[in-house]
Amino acid sequence: MKWTSTALRIALLLATTGLVGWYFGKPAWALCAVLLALVLHWLMQMRRVQNWLQQPQTPPPEIYGIWGDLLSRIYIQQKKGREAQARLQSTIDYLQDSFAYMRDGVIIVDEQGLLKWFNSPASELLSLREEDTGQILMNLVRAPEFSDYFNEGDFSEPLEYSVAGDTVTWVRIEITRFGDGDRLLFVRDITSAIRMEQVRRDFVANVSHELRTPLTVISGYLGTFLGDADNLDPRYRKAMGQMLQQAARMENLLKDLLWLSRIESGKGLEQHSLVSISALLAELLDELRSAEPERTVNVHLETEYQVLGDYRELYSAVSNLVWNALKYSPEDSPVEVHWRKQDGLYQLSVSDHGIGIDSMHIPRLTERFYRVEDSRSSATGGTGLGLAIVKHVAATHGAQLQIDSTLGTGSVFSLIFPDRGEIVEQHPTAASVA
Ligand code: ADP
Repeated sequence: MKWTSTALRIALLLATTGLVGWYFGKPAWALCAVLLALVLHWLMQMRRVQNWLQQPQTPPPEIYGIWGDLLSRIYIQQKKGREAQARLQSTIDYLQDSFAYMRDGVIIVDEQGLLKWFNSPASELLSLREEDTGQILMNLVRAPEFSDYFNEGDFSEPLEYSVAGDTVTWVRIEITRFGDGDRLLFVRDITSAIRMEQVRRDFVANVSHELRTPLTVISGYLGTFLGDADNLDPRYRKAMGQMLQQAARMENLLKDLLWLSRIESGKGLEQHSLVSISALLAELLDELRSAEPERTVNVHLETEYQVLGDYRELYSAVSNLVWNALKYSPEDSPVEVHWRKQDGLYQLSVSDHGIGIDSMHIPRLTERFYRVEDSRSSATGGTGLGLAIVKHVAATHGAQLQIDSTLGTGSVFSLIFPDRGEIVEQHPTAASVA
């Protein structure tokens, strides 16, 4: 019922009452009586509405007029709301049911970090109990790695860590935000994958180690024979030269494989200390001066900050980048090395004006044995492991490897270290060229 028709009816009632009252000579009394009756009627209706609003699930009382209209509208809206809520609840129940049967752990945490729900794999993996629901998850999962990850709030990469217990269990945690800051955690047991990876790493390390000794003997004899080349049958001289060259390649390969598995095992991390990048570059320049006296490498030191890490690992990463820059650029083209602070980050960049790399190869460059073209690396004697080593060293030092390259123009490989207090300022110096 529209309010205009109600107003019209009231106006009609008042007019009629006024007329009747005027006929009996008491129009004011008549109007007052009708108005009083009207107010009483509305008060009663309001009371019925109020009573019903206290139990809105029950059907609304039969009320006519504008109050009845109002009531039925409220009732319809509430019914719709209840239906929507029921649908939502059944979806939540359905999702929780499916989460409950998942083999991975699932945990729901609200925006305050309170544990709302978890399934039984999550309870097994993270030792959660039923009575923990409603408590702060951080206080229940007492692992510093987990607290740091959860507090930092950057969930773009999953977290992997070992859970202390009777046996060591490795878990991978992925977090997704939903709703009003709620978080959904997927917890997966990755112990067997980690063990397999360890077996693979040990196998590669052992094989590389075992192959080194026979290879040293082979290249040793070849070197001896070629040292006495005059007494060597000319038919064998060239073949033996190539054998020695390939043996040297294999030795380099084994050396890189052993080094990679050492870095992957995280042994270097145990000996973290402040590493002076300027001292590291000075040592590298010394090495290059004797190995490649014809080549020019310009070092620009714009900061004297020190990186907390493993000197040998960082040296191998920077040395791989500089050697690549030399290998893949013309003999007369200089290589530039910059150590500077840029946009609050510390950047070690190695740039060359060499052959460059097509952008389609860049995402795969750091894969083991990935080569842009086989001919490139065989010509330069590369092992295909250099950038894999660089990437791994960067990861263990919290740094990023950035590659910018244009085919035919040159490349810039940068190691970007975060400003986490890991890098300590000493005495900034002006740029120097070596
Ligand atoms: P390799 O031992 O073959 O050099 P890396 O892992 O060091 O192996 O490099 C992978 C590939 O990336 C190389 O085969 C080469 O094609 C390319 N590459 C690396 N550095 C450069 C560079 N500075 N300029 C051009 N190409 C490069």
